[in-house]
Amino acid sequence: MSFAFDPAVLKLPSAHFIGGAYVETPFTIDILSPSTGEAVGAIPCAGADTVDQAVRTAREALERSGWAKMRPRDRRNALCAWADLMEAEARTLAALEAVCSSRPFAQVVTGDIPVTAEQIRFFAEFADKEGGTLAPVSTDHFGYVSDEPYGVIGAITPWNFPISMAGWKLGPALAAGNAVVLKPSEMTPYSTLYMAELAVRAGIPKGILNIVLGDGPTTGAAITGHAGIDKVSFTGSTRAGGAIMENIARSGIKPMTLELGGKSPMLVFADADLDLAADCLDRGIMSNAGQACVSGSRMIVAEEIAGALADKLKARFARYRPAHTLAMQPGFSPIISEKQLSRIDSIVQAAAGQGAEAICGGARFDCDGSYYQPTLITGVDAESPAVREEIFGPVASFQTFTTEDEAMALASHPTYGLCAGLFTRDLSRAMRLTRRLEAGTVWVNRYGRSRDHILPTTGWKSSGLGSDLGREAYRANRRTKSVLIDL
Ligand code: NAD
Repeated sequence: MSFAFDPAVLKLPSAHFIGGAYVETPFTIDILSPSTGEAVGAIPCAGADTVDQAVRTAREALERSGWAKMRPRDRRNALCAWADLMEAEARTLAALEAVCSSRPFAQVVTGDIPVTAEQIRFFAEFADKEGGTLAPVSTDHFGYVSDEPYGVIGAITPWNFPISMAGWKLGPALAAGNAVVLKPSEMTPYSTLYMAELAVRAGIPKGILNIVLGDGPTTGAAITGHAGIDKVSFTGSTRAGGAIMENIARSGIKPMTLELGGKSPMLVFADADLDLAADCLDRGIMSNAGQACVSGSRMIVAEEIAGALADKLKARFARYRPAHTLAMQPGFSPIISEKQLSRIDSIVQAAAGQGAEAICGGARFDCDGSYYQPTLITGVDAESPAVREEIFGPVASFQTFTTEDEAMALASHPTYGLCAGLFTRDLSRAMRLTRRLEAGTVWVNRYGRSRDHILPTTGWKSSGLGSDLGREAYRANRRTKSVLIDL
């Protein structure tokens, strides 16, 4: 196979990054390539003492460097220089991502990295533009609301889009004048470490961005429970989000932003542009092999066009070919681990056992690595795990409706409310149903984010607490102070 980047020459950063230097502790976690199943390296797992070292370093760096107090324009400039360097180093950064994740090298170079760099610049611009407000108080007083950074943010990110997720957390936290201790997923640590190295090269003071490596129950819990962490910002599963809330409640109250799981519906009405809908539904579920929080994993389709749409989807799904993530041409992404692939398959097989039919896919690809076939399941009822659980794989349920109310009832999920997609040419219907859909993001006649970073992503229900992206994310990294002066 021809590789876009020679894995043999790739130097893998494999230690914690604290105070601008690599800090080694013994390796305990193997890093595997999902494209082959082979180990590519190993990393350490930070215990409470290493996390404490990182938090203290971050606090000292805030004091020493004046990061929070400097001219905001200078903070903006350092962040923009970092974004530029990420783009200049895109090939190395992308290789470090692709070597152990589900992200194809070519897509990371042309998509994840430029978009992340753009988002970092977007947040950097808030540094010298957002501020407090004067308060309309009585004339013998002077009142205003100021806002200030929290101090040290503890950030935890998932494996599915490592660079993008780190960018979502770091852009607003650093622009707002905080220091950060970030733990990437224990499955995909390398690109985040290199981002931190580049931050120092770009002029962000040493110790303002620290990376600790390790798993959730050990390192993650040590971060969320640390008294020196002023705010927690987490992206990951709803299950881990619950464990984090519990840990924070036990160890001392602190604010948190949680971006969690989803089980998002994509509704197609009979008047929709069917080719456009098929393209969007296809990408909505098959991007990153369904391993995206926003995956449109529940297709809810008007009865009269269901057959035609299913045929279009089957034709599109049949085109996917698995490919190594470092291959020259991007192909279909692998599933992150064999454990996750078995879970996907067990949900599909359980649905089949209950009378559902996989009208395409329904099994792993016959090749090396952890690849699952694009799968569409019909004949599922609303209570089936295939319709209720976040599968996090290339599997969508396909249900039909005859009335608008029936469509809304199918779209409603008892716990998740991350996103929803709506396909119709009827503007009144689009406006009416956009209001009724219980989700933090609704896309009409499209499915997926644009590069309009001003739009926040907010999980409703158990899909989250607070927002990433948008002005909201910058503000979520500062806390308000009311000041009242007697004149
Ligand atoms: P995960 O919850 O298993 O792990 C996410 C991160 O949390 C990892 O770094 C992990 O080590 C850490 N972690 C796990 N348990 C922890 C604990 N008890 N305390 C502290 N940290 C802990 O999720 P994952 O499998 O890496 O990622 C997939 C999940 O992330 C999916 O549910 C997906 O929907 C969600 N996600 C959500 C968004 C969003 O914006 N809403 C974006 C991307 C991914």
